[in-house]
Amino acid sequence: MPGHRCPGCDVAMERVDYSTADAAGATARARIDDPRESGTLGVGGKTYLEAYLCADCGLVRFYAD
Ligand SMILES: [Zn+2]
Repeated sequence: MPGHRCPGCDVAMERVDYSTADAAGATARARIDDPRESGTLGVGGKTYLEAYLCADCGLVRFYAD
C-alpha cells in the first residue's frame, strides 16, 4: 500500500527491510493477529508488518499492509 506520509514532515515514507532475531540467531518478521475481516494475507489471521521510514526525520512506522 503506497502513499504513507510522515505526520511531521508530510513527505512520502519509503518501505524498508527489517528483521528481528531470536536467541538462536534466526531472523523473523513481526506480525500481528489481524482483526480485520479481510485479513487473509497471513495464515490463521496473521498479517506481517511492513516498516516505513521517513528519510527526513528518521521516523519508522509499522503498517499491516
Ligand atoms: Zn518525518
